[in-house]
Amino acid sequence: MSTEIKDKAKATTTMGPKKFVFSFKEGDGKNKHLLGGKGANLCEMTQIGLNVPPGFVISTEACLSYLDHPGKDLPSGLMAEVKRQIAEVEKATGKRFGDPDNPLLVSVRSGSAMSMPGMMDTILNLGLNKKTLKGLIGQTQNERFSFDAYRRFIQLFGKVALGVPDEKFDEEFEIVKKAAGVKEDVALNASDLEDVSHRFLKVVEENTGQPFPDDEYEQLEIAIKAVFNSWMGKRAVDYRREFRITPSMANGTAVNVQTMVFGNMGNDSATGVGFTRDPGTGENVMFGEYLVNAQGEDVVAGIRTPKPVAEMAREMPQMYAQLEGLRQKLEQHYREVQDFEYTIEKQTLYCLQTRNGKMNTTAMVRTSIEMANAGLINKDEALLRIKPEMLDQLLYPRLDPKHKVEPLAQGLPASPGAASGHCVFDADRAEQLGRSGQKVILVREETKPEDIHGFFASQGILTSRGGKTSHAAVVARGMGKPCVAGAEGISVDVKLRQAVIGEKVLREGDYITIDGGTGMVYEGEVPTVEPEFSNDLKTLLSWADKVARLKVFANADTPDAARRAVEFGAMGIGLCRTERMFNDVDRLPIVIDMILADSLEDRQAALDRLEPIQRQDFKEVFKAMSPRPVTVRLLDPPIHEFLPNEDVVVAELTHLNHLKTTIDGVNNLYSSLRLIAAEQELKEKYPSPFTMGGADLVRQAITKKERMLKKIKELHEVNPMLGHRGVRLGLTYPEIYKMQIQAILEATAECQQEGIEIYPEIMVPQVCTAVELEHVKSYVDEIRERIEKERNIKLKFKFGSMIEVVRACMKAEKLAKVAEFFSFGTNDLTQATFSFSREDAENKFLPFYQQMNILLDNPFEVLDVGGVGKLMEITVQWGRRSRPDLKIGICGEQGGQPDSIKFCHHIGLDYVSCSGPRVPIARLAAAHAKLGEATYTYS
Ligand code: ADP
Ligand code: MG
Ligand code: MG
Repeated sequence: MSTEIKDKAKATTTMGPKKFVFSFKEGDGKNKHLLGGKGANLCEMTQIGLNVPPGFVISTEACLSYLDHPGKDLPSGLMAEVKRQIAEVEKATGKRFGDPDNPLLVSVRSGSAMSMPGMMDTILNLGLNKKTLKGLIGQTQNERFSFDAYRRFIQLFGKVALGVPDEKFDEEFEIVKKAAGVKEDVALNASDLEDVSHRFLKVVEENTGQPFPDDEYEQLEIAIKAVFNSWMGKRAVDYRREFRITPSMANGTAVNVQTMVFGNMGNDSATGVGFTRDPGTGENVMFGEYLVNAQGEDVVAGIRTPKPVAEMAREMPQMYAQLEGLRQKLEQHYREVQDFEYTIEKQTLYCLQTRNGKMNTTAMVRTSIEMANAGLINKDEALLRIKPEMLDQLLYPRLDPKHKVEPLAQGLPASPGAASGHCVFDADRAEQLGRSGQKVILVREETKPEDIHGFFASQGILTSRGGKTSHAAVVARGMGKPCVAGAEGISVDVKLRQAVIGEKVLREGDYITIDGGTGMVYEGEVPTVEPEFSNDLKTLLSWADKVARLKVFANADTPDAARRAVEFGAMGIGLCRTERMFNDVDRLPIVIDMILADSLEDRQAALDRLEPIQRQDFKEVFKAMSPRPVTVRLLDPPIHEFLPNEDVVVAELTHLNHLKTTIDGVNNLYSSLRLIAAEQELKEKYPSPFTMGGADLVRQAITKKERMLKKIKELHEVNPMLGHRGVRLGLTYPEIYKMQIQAILEATAECQQEGIEIYPEIMVPQVCTAVELEHVKSYVDEIRERIEKERNIKLKFKFGSMIEVVRACMKAEKLAKVAEFFSFGTNDLTQATFSFSREDAENKFLPFYQQMNILLDNPFEVLDVGGVGKLMEITVQWGRRSRPDLKIGICGEQGGQPDSIKFCHHIGLDYVSCSGPRVPIARLAAAHAKLGEATYTYS
């Protein structure tokens, strides 16, 4: 930061004498970097004829030059310029700075290019001293008001400019209040306040060792320096770091010197803050609060409770009409909702500040629609004023922001949304309680496919291990349920049915709340707010779709998810993961049979049972999406993922073997009793607990589990994610891919014959050479020919490849000869490009890398345009060399991230695909990408 300041200051000096001070009448209202946001707007408002108290701005360049100067003097000539400007203000107001009869008082206000609320200081009523105070009293005939203004000035100036602690003033103030026997400031009379000002003057002298400066120009110079210094104050520096405000966004603060106007001159005076529209709902009504007979700071400080602005319509109807006029003018000029400050001095309305209003998303969306419909802005502007990420607020249930609670633990925000429920620690209990109508949160160390029934029964999922691509995270996202993953502070004990977080023990049934958008876990029930897909939002997104070139698809694995995706406006499915369909309670056993099969025959038998189920799934998904395209990915994960953990099976086998021993023991008991002829007696009293059938079932269970264990050991891989999966699995066990291809094409045939318009696409994962694709293509051709002949139809579908292996990028030209489309799987491609495993990266070093600015963003969330993006760009070019109409999209998680979407637009992709609830965000981002394409840059 300091070097930047130096460079800037040097540039200034070499460019010759610089104009540092600008009257509100001449300053460039667009140049916030030079004049600060407040100053630029004061200039602009003055120049469009609004009633702004006269004044001038000292530029941010003056600030930088001052801060850079070792002796900390104001740049030479600055005070002379200030004096000239004061003279102008004197002419405009008829008052004189330091005049004992008609004194000009000013405020000295800070303001940089970026709003930094409360970070820097403002001094009011500057120019008061013993002489001018008398003038003020004579002029206003109001002693109380004058002493009140004086004591405020001494305190603010003492604190801000001279560094006297506030408490010193407060102590004296309390003494006077006590002596006068009053509780409220307003109850003090003129002589009380006179007493206060004398005491304050003494406080300053005692704390600074010097008398309070009486000379008005000395006051002004000290105040200007104090405001400049506040730019480098700890508060401001911390704020800029926290909110990543870089020097290119705001460098230095400007100082605004402005004629004081008084809202505390009686009951025909007031002060207030307002919004030109309701920032909570977006409704087109004036919104805000005011106080009669008060100075601006009173509203903000909350000393008195302000009234809603609607009341002014009754209390001061003429003023309200003026205020309404101001509101109209502000919006007409700025073409944006404004947040403004005003003061009414003896029936005259002055505007003291305006800036673009900060609103919640609901209000942003509504005002966009209404301002565009009213012709205040055009549709492009209506789209551009909303950051796509903001829509997040509208799409998931979230915690009620009004409810403040401390989190119990924190994990990774793995699937957005908030949910509360009773904690349960295994899937079976979740299902039991869920069936009985209770809300539950499934809390596990980690989850496995066998837990899937627990997911269905739960409101949300919390795990203590694993990252954003863990089973829990991926499945929860697929189902649209909230998930917090890898909350490492929690240790889950399934046997004791409890979880321990530090000192705290959560037992089964205890209520908790999770927020999958932030990763926070709370004790008890935190109220949530439901999402709303309003008509305004629908309208806005329909405008976005008209503008955008990129299509937005959804990743959806089940017919249910497909239907939801359509509601979010998905224009197709970019990724349908078939393995998700295996995870159903009644399907998993068949999948396990398929895996355990030792012979092709056995495997085929299991596959024959799966095929009709898959076919039905595909048909439903195709129907739900008709007439939109659906890309189905053939089986991708290593098959051991469908089997339980080795530890679990070993433990279960131990239990089963105990049971078998017990049965044997009981049988032994009978043969022993026979020896002592007591057998009959026992049989009469206690019928045998184990029939022969029961014993046989136990034996069968043991055999099955033993086979599973053996298979788990066989399938063990050192690096499963780089191992036997994707197309490699499909080529070594062709019967699996053939079953899936058949299911897809039979479903296609049935839909076509029923007259349903569908566009299915078969996608092969993990491809690294065209030869792999050719093999799978030959299965497809064989099955297609057979079905076409059997049904006497022509099947319409596409065949293509996922691009998630670096080699595939390099061989794009070759692959595109076989593939009709490409889809970038940027989760795997990012892992492969960085040689990071995502789970390890996110859990171990990535946060550190980001903290150290080694990587600015997490590349698994924000596409790494420079590296992974470069590969994609080359792939697009090379692929289209051999197939110019090659359809290309992205289905990795980054496909729903606005900056990544801009890049995808830039390199000419046809579509992005993301999780259903992110579709609206992506639609808006796709429009932004188009609207910003002319000025798009990346590094
Ligand atoms: P902030 O940026 O913290 O809002 P401001 O510079 O806007 O600080 O000033 C603080 C308060 O003082 C505001 O309520 C503002 O309206 C009031 N104020 C500032 N200048 C004047 C002035 N010339 N006359 C009357 N009130 C003023
Ligand atoms: Mg302000
Ligand atoms: Mg992949």
